[in-house]
Formats: sequence, structure tokens, C-alpha cells
Amino acid sequence: MNKLIIPIILCILVLTPLCIGQGSDANKNDKIIVYATIQSQKEMIEAVGGDKVTVNIIVPPGDSPHTRDLTPSQLTDLAKARIYVMVGSGVEFEVKSIDKIRDLNKNMIVIDSSKGIELISIGFHAHEGEELHSEEEDGKDPHIWNSIKNGKTMVQNIYDGLILVDPDNKEYYLKNRDEYIMKLDEADQYIANELTDIPNRSFMIFHPSWGYFARDYNLTQIAIEVGGKEPTLQSLSHTIEEAKEENIKTVFVSPGFSSKAAEIITKEIGGKTEVLDPLAENYIENLKITANKIKNQ
Ligand SMILES: [Zn+2]
Repeated sequence: MNKLIIPIILCILVLTPLCIGQGSDANKNDKIIVYATIQSQKEMIEAVGGDKVTVNIIVPPGDSPHTRDLTPSQLTDLAKARIYVMVGSGVEFEVKSIDKIRDLNKNMIVIDSSKGIELISIGFHAHEGEELHSEEEDGKDPHIWNSIKNGKTMVQNIYDGLILVDPDNKEYYLKNRDEYIMKLDEADQYIANELTDIPNRSFMIFHPSWGYFARDYNLTQIAIEVGGKEPTLQSLSHTIEEAKEENIKTVFVSPGFSSKAAEIITKEIGGKTEVLDPLAENYIENLKITANKIKNQ
């Protein structure tokens, strides 16, 4: 009997602390699972979180945060998340689903990356003789991310969330944050230089997702879409006039998105369509590409 019991007790004594130790080590090595709404947030979160985070995005490439819904597998996966980074500026997906997401996972902290960012008006304007619904008139522009100025605030909010969840690695996140903000400043300088002396400061786009970008670099965004919909014939004919007055030769559209109105305008002005991606994963690079396309429109 003794011959058997002693080794068993020894095993338990030796193995128990090992098992406990292993458990806490495994937890330490686990990455922080972060969820966010759009692809544009991915680079920011990965830049600050580095190898401490795994970032998952709700709205896949080619889809829209204005219409997207949660999938059943996302509902399951969100239960494992530690942080949800909201854009926070009123994108429809978040307005509709954030309470559901909060209820799903009470241990997850929700960061509002728009904290400290002043929302501007979406800038729909009524053409003569047209009525504008009040929500369009007063509507705030949710596309805050397409601005380096706003991007810097979003990065700061992401940093604040990460050090709340993982204070032990504060120095690491701080260094990453500062390095990425330096890159944002460099890109801002580059874009400002690119857009200093360009022939046309007005650009025409189907979906008005570049309002903050236009504000930052003193450009005028002319939207074709009205209140998230294809324009009426009357509105369309005014937009064509406007394009001619502003000497516009390019109509910008989102990738993979076809618009009858954009095609008609392009034909009428004898111009071309060009793609601007409002939700690109390569955040900084995409803003530079956008500047180049507007410069060379
Ligand atoms: Zn949009």
C-alpha cells in the first residue's frame, strides 16, 4: 500500500504547483482579443497593441458599416473579446448593435474612439426647390476615421483602453502609440504638401465619406448621394450642372460599388470614374493614395 500511496502523494505535491503555474503562464501569454467595427481601425489597434493583441473586425472588406449586421459566428466570438473599439460617431451598425454586444459580454470593455472628436455636419445640401428631411439637414458625419487629425485622437483612445485592460504593459503601448502618432504626423505633412497647389480643390463623390479629410486640407466634397440613397432626377441634373461649373472631370466611387447616378454624371461631363476606398485596411497608405487621386483628378 505504502509503496503506491507515497509516489501518488509525491506526484500530487509536485504536479499541483506546476499545473497552477502553467495555468497562469498560459493566461499571461494569451493575446488580448480586440474587436472593432471597420477595417480602418485595424492598423491603429495593431500599431498600439503590437504582439499583445489579436484584432478582429466586424465589417468585412466590401461591406458597409451603414448596413451590416452581426453574424451568428461573430456573436459567439465576441464572448471571448476583452475590448470592443467602437468608431463611436454614429455609424448605423454600432447604433443598432452595441447594446446587444455589451449584453453578450459583460467582462469586455467598450472604448469609444470618437471621444474628444468634434463631429461635423454631413453636409447634404438642398438644391433649389427641393425639400430636405430634418435628419439629413442635422445629420452628423460619422466618417471620422478618414482624417489624420481624428485618427490621432482615435489612437489615443485605443491606448487608454489597452492600459486599462493591461496596465503591466503600459510602457510598451506608450512607445507603440508614440511611434504610430509620429507616422501619422509624417503622413499628414506629406498629404498637406501634395494638396498645397492643386488645380481643383473640389471633388465629386457618390458616397460622402471624406468630409473630415476635405475639412483638414481645405477641399470641397460634393456628394451625389442624398441621405444614403441614389439622387432624384432633379437632384441629379443639379449635380451635373455643379460638376460642369466646378470643372470636375472625375467622379469618385467606393470599390465594388456601382451607381447609376455616378455613371450618368460621368457620361454627361465626359469624364471618368475613379475609386476611393473609405474603409481600407492599410489606413495611412490609403489616405496618401486618396490625396494623390484627388490631386490628379
Ligand atoms: Zn459611409
